[in-house]
Amino acid sequence: RLWIRWTQRAIKDDERTTMEYQAVGHDITERKEAEAALLRAKEAAEAADRAKSEFLAIVSHELRTPINAIVGFSKMLASTTLSLDQREQVEMINSSGLALEKIIADILNLSKIDSGKVDIEHAPFSIRMCVQDICAFYAPKARSLALSLDSKVDAGVPEIVNSDEGRIRQILNNLIGNALKFTERGGVSLEVSCARGEPIEPGSSRRIARLFFAIKDSGIGIPPEKLDGLFLPFSQVDTSSTRRRGGTGLGLIISKRLCELMGGSISVESRAGEGSTFRFSILTDFEEA
Ligand code: ADP
Repeated sequence: RLWIRWTQRAIKDDERTTMEYQAVGHDITERKEAEAALLRAKEAAEAADRAKSEFLAIVSHELRTPINAIVGFSKMLASTTLSLDQREQVEMINSSGLALEKIIADILNLSKIDSGKVDIEHAPFSIRMCVQDICAFYAPKARSLALSLDSKVDAGVPEIVNSDEGRIRQILNNLIGNALKFTERGGVSLEVSCARGEPIEPGSSRRIARLFFAIKDSGIGIPPEKLDGLFLPFSQVDTSSTRRRGGTGLGLIISKRLCELMGGSISVESRAGEGSTFRFSILTDFEEA
């Protein structure tokens, strides 16, 4: 069985009388088969993707209920009279439960982003307030680790920008959380700057702005051979230290995807033993007035 594509045309003489018809057949069987194979592969991939999403939704639901019980009851147990050993064990149950909860939330989050089910909001908010809140949230942790935590928002950053505050907070939480986690001496700083661009359309008072964030730490740093793979799922530089410090290896890939969804990108500069600087940018707009 062959697929043939026919081209037919009339051949005319000088008086425009049709003398004959010419027909040329091209064997396009190979192309048709390739198209069909592509379509089958696409359908199979879509079916696999649907199955993955359903599987994740069910698994996360089924796991969450028992994890809630583990976290909740271990917390209750911790408030009863316990021996020193028992207290340590109960705390271990509690922190393992919390770690599991975080892994499930991260996996679900990434799978949602990957299947294009995450909508990016475009609403006005204050970057300065956002930075203040996040620093206030991490201040007690930094203090308990004897680390400094500073922030600076450049004067050029507009008071109010339109973007997705929740997603920006999510990225900042990941990066500041990591910076504190992987720093033993010194501290962490967050800087925000801005490049103001063109009006979104001619004559409009709304202008495009690219916001740049830099999260700098004086921590353990990242060896050069590990930098390339850093933004891949489940990548962790040193699994033994990560086990001690906790983490899922999904924070950076989630942050990268969110940056890309907001018209930006993320990068890192680091040297082992000398600290790291994570930079990301996002596209926003603001009202000039
Ligand atoms: P995790 O949950 O393990 O922190 P991430 O995706 O956020 O997952 O980070 C992946 C890995 O990148 C970490 O396990 C760590 O090895 C390395 N890393 C991330 N941020 C830093 C940092 N500020 N300093 C040193 N290493 C870092």
